[in-house]
Amino acid sequence: MRPIKLVILLITFFVAVQNTVARSGSDSTLNVKERSIISIASLTAKGDLQQLQKEIDIALQSGLTVNEIKEVQVHVYAYCGFPRSIRGLQTLMQVIEERKSKGTKDVIGREASMIADGTSKYERGRITLSKLTNTKQERPSSGYGAFAPIIDTFLKEHLFADIFDRDILTHVERELATISVLGTIGSAEPMLRNHYSICLNLGISPNKLYEFTEIIKNLYGNESYLSCKKTLDELLNRKTVASSNSTQSHLFDIGAKITNSNFQGTAYLNNLVTADSLNTSAVGSVTFEPGARTKWHMHPAGQILLVIEGVGYYQEKGQQKRIIKKGDVIKCQPNLPHWHGASATNSLVQIAITNRHLGETVWMDEVTDQEYNK
Ligand code: MN
Repeated sequence: MRPIKLVILLITFFVAVQNTVARSGSDSTLNVKERSIISIASLTAKGDLQQLQKEIDIALQSGLTVNEIKEVQVHVYAYCGFPRSIRGLQTLMQVIEERKSKGTKDVIGREASMIADGTSKYERGRITLSKLTNTKQERPSSGYGAFAPIIDTFLKEHLFADIFDRDILTHVERELATISVLGTIGSAEPMLRNHYSICLNLGISPNKLYEFTEIIKNLYGNESYLSCKKTLDELLNRKTVASSNSTQSHLFDIGAKITNSNFQGTAYLNNLVTADSLNTSAVGSVTFEPGARTKWHMHPAGQILLVIEGVGYYQEKGQQKRIIKKGDVIKCQPNLPHWHGASATNSLVQIAITNRHLGETVWMDEVTDQEYNK
């Protein structure tokens, strides 16, 4: 083989390896552009213009165009209002001027393409929102959109058509900007959670979302970080329980799905201790997915419940339903009808210690939705 051919071969190999590294890197970690978008969206929403100047400077140095930064700041107005958005744009103008005075000419970048496919704006927004949320969006017949149809129109025609159709940013980049604003302004539940879900639907990995919370931590410290992380943890834990027999978030293995008719919804049981003639208590770890619960039932010798994860409900016949959560201990009296399970939005893991020496659990009626939701 001639030396020149060998060199070409080596270069080709090297480029191929580099590309693979770049691709796998971009799957698991945020790239420079995404990190800049998060910081700029967040600082614009916060109105921290001094820090924003620095981040804009970094973004321009690392190759974002003026129009891309501008687009992030226009996008965020839908989530934090014109005043913050406009102050952000004025800061961008200022940074560009300062860089120009030092001889740096920044790249303006391309403009948004024209949209002219004949589809109505509302329909375009409806389709985009359906794709983002992975659920079919219709003209709402209930909830806030039915109560105030004009906001549904504005949301679909303006935010998800006018703004989202501007192809200067991808939908992934727009959603990263959105969670940055929601995570920064705080008290925006359940919107932050919903937009984390959209991020996952768009293929943004949980790793990248945790990286996002780290950026928030670097900008504002622990409190903002913890609230962003908590919402993400909750969303992912719920998914973990709902989708598989993963044991990551549990002290004990989740066990097997319960298939008998004594439970409503999806629940799992791991038998930890079997009762025998010397030790008459059975111990089991029960995992209830959101909305899952036992039927009404009673234990001839009573039962002790240790809640080790999540949030749920416990109710005794004739009493009000109680909210139970991680760390709670409940002693059920013998032969007193009751039920227990997860809340509508959280899963629950309980350790049930049930004494068997006076007989097996007596199963009764279903817990109706009315009883469950009361
Ligand atoms: Mn019980």
